[in-house]
Amino acid sequence: MISVEQALGHLFQLVSPLGVEMVPIDQAGGRVLARPVAARLTQPPFDASSMDGYAIRAEDARPGATLKVSGESAAGRRHQDPVRPGEAVRIFTGAPMPPGADRVVIQEDVERKGGTIVLRAAPGPGENVRPAGNDFRLGDTLSAPRRLGPAALALAAAMNHAELPCHRRPEIAVISTGDELVEPGQAPGPDQIVASNVYGLKAMLEAEGARVRRLPIAGDTIEELQAVLDMARGTDMIVTIGGASAGDRDVIARAAETLGIEQDFYKVAMRPGKPLMAGRLAGTPMIGLPGNPVSALVCGVVFVVPTVRVMMGLPAAAQPRDRVPLAADVGPNGPREHYMRAMLEAGSDGAWRVRPFARQDSALLSVLSAADALLVRPPGDAPRRAGEVVEIIRI
Ligand code: AMP
Ligand code: MG
Repeated sequence: MISVEQALGHLFQLVSPLGVEMVPIDQAGGRVLARPVAARLTQPPFDASSMDGYAIRAEDARPGATLKVSGESAAGRRHQDPVRPGEAVRIFTGAPMPPGADRVVIQEDVERKGGTIVLRAAPGPGENVRPAGNDFRLGDTLSAPRRLGPAALALAAAMNHAELPCHRRPEIAVISTGDELVEPGQAPGPDQIVASNVYGLKAMLEAEGARVRRLPIAGDTIEELQAVLDMARGTDMIVTIGGASAGDRDVIARAAETLGIEQDFYKVAMRPGKPLMAGRLAGTPMIGLPGNPVSALVCGVVFVVPTVRVMMGLPAAAQPRDRVPLAADVGPNGPREHYMRAMLEAGSDGAWRVRPFARQDSALLSVLSAADALLVRPPGDAPRRAGEVVEIIRI
C-alpha cells in the first residue's frame, strides 16, 4: 500500500496538460489561461477624472477662487481646448482631463452660480485624477497558468483581448459498476440500490471545468465492463466506480489484466478509499474508485480533482488545507490517513473550529452532505484534544 501523497504523485505522472485552443472571452470563465497575454493598450489611455467635478489649473486651486466654466469633458467626449487661467471645465468620471488642468475639484466642494464656480476647497496636485497607465501599460502581462475568474477575465478584456489561449477541457468517462445498481428514478428490485455517487462525481468534475461522458452502468462481468469501456474511447481519462476491492465479484480488480489495464498502483493507505486503483487502458489514464458512495466522493476530492487540474493546465498540487482548532476531542488514528467528515462551526470568539461527525461509515451520504470539511488525520496520529490545531480540506 502506498501513501496518499505517493498515490497523488503517481496520478500526476499519468496525465499531462491538454493542448491549447483559443476561447472566446465570453466562454473563458473557469478555463485555465495557458500562456501570458500582453496588454494591447494602456489603461487608462489618457489622464482621466475619477470624480464628477471641475478640472482646474494649479494656480487657481485656492479656496474662494471664482472661476469661469469654459466647457465640458464627458466620458467618450473630451474637451479639446486648454483650460486657461481663471477657468474651469465641467468634468465627469472617466472623462479625459483637458490640457492645462492638473486636478479636479469635486462638485460637492464648489458653489455653482450660473457660468461660474466658487471653490470651497482646494484639491492638491493630481487629486481626483487617474494618470494614464495607472492600471496597466501596453505590454504588461496577465500571467499564466491561472484559472480565469471574474477579475482576470475583466482585466483580459480591458487589455483588449477578444479570445484567450486556454487548455482544452478534459473529457472524462465515468462508469458505475455493479449488478445491484439502477439509475435514479427507476424502480429498484428487492436486492438493488440506486447508483448515486456518479452524479456527485460528475458535478464535482464539471465544477472543475471537465466535460463528463457518463456511461451506462456496467454489470459485474468482464464482458459487460468491456462493452462499456469501449464507449469510453476518445476520452482523456476513464474513471470507474466500484468493483475495485479484492472480492470475487470485484470486476475491475479481477479483470484488470484481461482488459489490458496497465496497473500503476492499487490500494492506498487511506480511510475511506483504500481500494483505489490507477493505471492506463490503451494509453488512456484510468482511475478506479471504490464503490462506497463516500469513499468515491472523498477520493474524487483528494485524487481526481487535483489530477483534472493538471490536465486543465494548473500546477500539480494536492488540495489546499486550512489549519483550524478542533471543537471536540478525537481518539487516536490508525495506520491509514483518515479523511473524517466534519462540520465547521464558529466558536464563541467567532473563529472557525472543526467538529468531526460521530458516524464515519463510508456509506453515509447523509453525513457527507452535512459536512463542509474533511478533517485530515495523519497515519498513527495521537489522540487530540479540543482546541488543538488540525488540518482540514474544505468541501
Ligand atoms: P464495490 O466497490 O463495488 O464493492 O461497492 C462497495 C459498495 O458501494 C457496495 O455496497 C455497492 O453497492 C456500493 N456502490 C457501488 N457502486 C455504487 C454507485 N455507483 N452508487 C452507489 N453505491 C455504489
Ligand atoms: Mg460492486
